Amino acid sequence: MDAITQAKLFAIVCETIIGHADELTTLDQAIGDGDHGINMKRGFEAVAADPTVASKPLPDALKAAGMALVMKVGGASGPLYGTLLMTLGKEIGPDPGVDDAVRALGAAIDAVKARGKSEPGQKTMLDVLVPVHAALAADPGADVARVARDAAEATVPMKAIRGRASFLGDRSIGHMDPGARSACLMVEAVASVVRG
Ligand code: ADP
Ligand code: MG
Repeated sequence: MDAITQAKLFAIVCETIIGHADELTTLDQAIGDGDHGINMKRGFEAVAADPTVASKPLPDALKAAGMALVMKVGGASGPLYGTLLMTLGKEIGPDPGVDDAVRALGAAIDAVKARGKSEPGQKTMLDVLVPVHAALAADPGADVARVARDAAEATVPMKAIRGRASFLGDRSIGHMDPGARSACLMVEAVASVVRG
């Protein structure tokens, strides 16, 4: 990836999350404490505000962004998204092909599972990240934006088993998971740049 595309990638992911903060907060008001949009906006504003983050070589840029998320997002999602990006940065090469990117994403998702003691099916961000990774592993040309939207939609009928929404038990059913939606937004933003 050339430097201009990488800068665009980071900028669009940040812009997308910041631009959907209200929607993420509304989702978190239904089954959480209503801070997911505010948390994510704070984190991605910090990433966007530091131009040295995106201009580093890709592995270092991802690690720096992950660290900023850990420090700024807070809540459950900060350390989890931070772990995702930091592990991605540790695993990925400076100019990755699809195979390298898919392998690194798999390792990053495993790190999120370990950190969150979570698995897909529990109504979390993993319910988007895992199907997106599986689709890419099966077909590098998969329509990941579509996979991500369908996967986020599929969290609506799920009962939350992890995170704050799990305190609601059956009352968590019928709402999209906020973290699944934010993961979907990130996948859509990345796909819009990488796939054009
Ligand atoms: P908090 O729940 O602490 O208020 P946020 O509102 O920022 O944090 O983030 C909530 C989102 O984090 C959930 O919608 C869910 O997708 C994700 N999440 C929470 N706990 C876990 C976990 N153990 N594993 C994976 N994702 C989780
Ligand atoms: Mg919350």
